[in-house]
Amino acid sequence: MKLSLSNGIFCKLKLDENFAAVKKLGFVNIEFNMKSIKKEHDRDVYRVQKALAASGLNCLTLHSAVLHVKDPIEVHQAVYYGKISLECAHALHAPLMVLHSGVSKKLPRNLREQCLDEIFNCEIKPFAKKLGIKLALENLSYSSTGFGKNVAELEEVLGVIGDGDMGITFDLCHALESKETDNLLEKYGRRVCNVHMANKSHKPFTEPKLELLNFLTKLHGYGYDGPITLEITHKASIEEITKSKDLFDSLLKNFGT
Ligand SMILES: [Zn+2]
Repeated sequence: MKLSLSNGIFCKLKLDENFAAVKKLGFVNIEFNMKSIKKEHDRDVYRVQKALAASGLNCLTLHSAVLHVKDPIEVHQAVYYGKISLECAHALHAPLMVLHSGVSKKLPRNLREQCLDEIFNCEIKPFAKKLGIKLALENLSYSSTGFGKNVAELEEVLGVIGDGDMGITFDLCHALESKETDNLLEKYGRRVCNVHMANKSHKPFTEPKLELLNFLTKLHGYGYDGPITLEITHKASIEEITKSKDLFDSLLKNFGT
């Protein structure tokens, strides 16, 4: 397993300062979160590419810009967000992109399925394939405006967009909050290709809590060797992040890395 940090925690900083803050903490791998660039202008892709190259950091994964469509008229916007995010992943040589279902939990089921089909099957999946980027759907939190917080909801989404190529981003914080950790692992353990790692409320783990050790052991049992991406609230202190990094540096040694 490879330790990584979501740079979303520093999204309020300018890009070069953002990457510098990640490096200062001692990380070599990042998940680039699209919220780090304020507006998804097409030519921002080059700016991000240059800043990452200058930083020397590795971009293991990219978190897509997020829009949870509340009305089918917004499908175009969601497609744009997804495609510009894919362009960015391609420019940063990230082999994997994290995405949300992209549909609001308030949409009725028939419209949800129609929007999912139009966004993903017609547009995002073929474009990702063309660029050689794997997609990994994330389990959402209870408080998210998006659809896809538990096995039943994710199964509905995957029923429309989930061919064999679709991976899963396992967000442990969301799973703990919704008490879905074991259900999600049982269903998708072999499909996980990225992990968002944090305790409830996106607080960093600073101690080897039992639920954390159980999760890592089970994940390891499924043969997982991908990124462990710390996705931490911006309210966390530098001391807490450092403590969390030290914890995972030592824990991940036990899991074949
Ligand atoms: Zn997440």
